[in-house]
Amino acid sequence: MRPAFARNSALFGSIILTCLLASCQRDDSARSSGVSSNAATRESSDALDYTTASARKARVSDLEYDLHIDLHGGEDAFTGEVDIRYQLSDAATDLTLDFGGGTVRELRVNGRPVPVTYNGFFLTLPAEALQTGENSVLVTYEHDYSEDGTGLHRFVDPEDRRVYLYTYLWPYYANRLFPAFDQPNLKAKISLTVLAPEDWTVVSTGVGEKQPAADGASLWQFAATPKMSTYVFSLHAGPYRIWEDTADGLPIRLMARQSLTEFVAVDEWLDVTKRGLKYYGQYFDIPYPFKKYDQLIVPDFNIGAMENIAAVTFTEGYVQRQPSDRSQRERRASVILHEMAHMWFGNLVTHDWWNGLWLNESFATQMAAMASAATTEFKDTWHGFFINAKSRAYVRDSKVTTHPIEVPIDSTSDFFTVFDAITYEKGSSVLKQLAHHTGEEGYRRGVSAYLKAFSHDTTELSDFIGHIESSTGVDLERWTDEWLYKAGFNTLSTSIACDGNQLRELRIIQEAPDDNPYLRTHQTDVALYYFNADGNVGTTEVLAAELSGASTVVQGTEGRPCPALVNPNHDDWTYAKVALNDRDAEVLARSLEALPEPLARSMFLAALFDRAMSGEMPVADYVDHAMHLAKSETNIRVQQQLSGSIVAAVDAMQRLKPETNAALARLIPMLEELSLEQAGSSATDDLKRTWFNSWLGVVSSEEGLETVRDLLDGSTRVPGIEMSADLRWQLLTILSAAGATGAEEMLALERSSDTSDFGAKSALTAAAARPDPANKAAWLSELQNPETVTGLSRQRAVMAGLFPANQTALQLESLNQVLEALPELSKTADPYFLSSYTSVLLTPMCRPESVAQLQSALDDSMNRRADRLNSTALRFLREAHQADRECLALRPVQN
Ligand SMILES: [Zn+2]
Repeated sequence: MRPAFARNSALFGSIILTCLLASCQRDDSARSSGVSSNAATRESSDALDYTTASARKARVSDLEYDLHIDLHGGEDAFTGEVDIRYQLSDAATDLTLDFGGGTVRELRVNGRPVPVTYNGFFLTLPAEALQTGENSVLVTYEHDYSEDGTGLHRFVDPEDRRVYLYTYLWPYYANRLFPAFDQPNLKAKISLTVLAPEDWTVVSTGVGEKQPAADGASLWQFAATPKMSTYVFSLHAGPYRIWEDTADGLPIRLMARQSLTEFVAVDEWLDVTKRGLKYYGQYFDIPYPFKKYDQLIVPDFNIGAMENIAAVTFTEGYVQRQPSDRSQRERRASVILHEMAHMWFGNLVTHDWWNGLWLNESFATQMAAMASAATTEFKDTWHGFFINAKSRAYVRDSKVTTHPIEVPIDSTSDFFTVFDAITYEKGSSVLKQLAHHTGEEGYRRGVSAYLKAFSHDTTELSDFIGHIESSTGVDLERWTDEWLYKAGFNTLSTSIACDGNQLRELRIIQEAPDDNPYLRTHQTDVALYYFNADGNVGTTEVLAAELSGASTVVQGTEGRPCPALVNPNHDDWTYAKVALNDRDAEVLARSLEALPEPLARSMFLAALFDRAMSGEMPVADYVDHAMHLAKSETNIRVQQQLSGSIVAAVDAMQRLKPETNAALARLIPMLEELSLEQAGSSATDDLKRTWFNSWLGVVSSEEGLETVRDLLDGSTRVPGIEMSADLRWQLLTILSAAGATGAEEMLALERSSDTSDFGAKSALTAAAARPDPANKAAWLSELQNPETVTGLSRQRAVMAGLFPANQTALQLESLNQVLEALPELSKTADPYFLSSYTSVLLTPMCRPESVAQLQSALDDSMNRRADRLNSTALRFLREAHQADRECLALRPVQN
């Protein structure tokens, strides 16, 4: 097998992905003048820079591609021919055409053969062959199928040997499918024909027509698309299992590998699809803008899902080989609705350049939550949004590598500095605050007008903001500056002054971190809680407030009874953390469970967890408190938050061993018992699963590991928990990570009975988890120089098993080996590989020596002027160093 294309790119010599943060500031002179005078000197690299893209946009227009692809040939590569027609405003200089990692067989420009000038990244169309006005380019080419999930990926199902292909072209991989001007603002009409084996279905943007062809092949024809960006084009093919339906007359299909047929939640998936299509059509006041809606669940997928126009792809992570629980159903509904929102926002109307990615993603995330709350069983979606999405945003926003929501993107190689929770979750939290600030209906009208005004076109941020301003009459200049151009988050705390039991003044204090010292204006509701003598909540009052500056007096509270507790962000309208003072913490220690609203309980629980994770309170005390709350909590989301935070707290304590040995020896058996007891006695299957997952997250005592064995051999069972193939692999991984006797034989046996792709990947995870230095070293060198484990999804499976929380000593031993390979990987590896490598293998080790080693890797990079780590590697290395340092500040137990 061939390694993935991007890992080969060093062969082309001068790949330069390096863009250090300091040098990544946008050159605004280039932006305003638009045209670069040196298009011919574009750097040889597997990326597209903003200067080249904007220069090309200024010259090229009226683009059409006629694409023909032959999938009927060999197993390694496909062949293609593309006929490109466009208008050129200026033929004075060369023009480049993006084409990553292929072989060019023939090039014709305006009908004449032209010598091929190709560096493995782009073709150069010489000025002398170009003409002002109409031009045509014909390229005949060959390209390898990919193994890393980018471009046109080929997968062979190990269970039945069937072959499945799909494309993943975002952000800059369409040029791995065909030579193209691969940038979002060069929208084009694309027509496609595909020659494929007779028993395959071929899927693309439009509706395909199949005709018989020679040699057991079929020819699929797709009429020209509407004007579209290349990154949302697609070509999927294979003997997919297909479920068909219609939604108000629109054909909809769901597809998956044949061997997954029995596990796909078809009815649920199509039901959410229909509800979403109806909701969005009404919300945007624009009918669904394309001719059909296909959704494909595909193997080896690099991310959660991709919004290819009318042919969306999803990871198989949304399919379980056991009945789905509530969280899994909700995540599935959320991703279906997220991708669907993109059909209007992102696909019909598209950002001009990649600095606009955040608005596209944040908007789809916001819409998915709105649609989920309005149309599915998950009416309390925004509660889940607080627990999951917002907490990810706060975590990301507290990193040294955080950034404003809107940032310049100088090159597609800088992607992984912003493909993060700022771009998705913080942005959508901020849009939620915007809709609250401007009024929900005015916001909706602004969005609708914006989409109508720019259909089939591209836009900049000011187009969106301008439409919201004109539909609501609210001036958003200050809002835009405070929320979109300033990094970091604020904390809100309360200062209560009472005379006896009468409130004299209620102040909300706003703070910002030293490195991003920006205060903002927040539109919130403030809730005042009064407790009875028995600790129960009496009345609650809620007041609307605008908080700005370092402190705001909440109007209309004077003379009211003195509140026991105040929530400055009731209902979670703004993006700001609630911070607790000692008095709040004391009140909550007694009475958190008495708060009437589940969301309020979650917000205060998160604030307590923050205290534990910042060293303000001992982690073990948090665990004790959470275990106490779990016994009386009735809301499933708060239960899940409790169980998740307990596992996270134990994870942190595991990393801090041996200092935490005694505390863990006390807590683990208690947690194992509580989790299993809750799993056995909870009223619903969803709660049973929640607590069983919690048990899986903490089980590590001798007795606990015995239970793992008993579950595997069937001698014990937990009522309500089905022993599925997926669960068996989780249990085996726990035994393997614990170095349990006989674990290797059990793995081999399981592997021989589970021949599925999931089984193959799970076996890699479980094998990598074995706690033995030689085992770790061997897997690491396999990752660094792949021989047997090729393909990104399999490499990620190895990474997932390598360093669990209770193996930080081994991780520390391996740290040199991980870091030494980084400069080379930084030059040669695909960003997806690199981001997994640097984040998954560098989880906190919580030792002064690991902090020092990470620091010296950072220093080394700074000292190597010409050979610094690229922006992706540097981002994750800096974050790892920070997390390791902060871990040392935790207080595991009361000292
Ligand atoms: Zn998206």
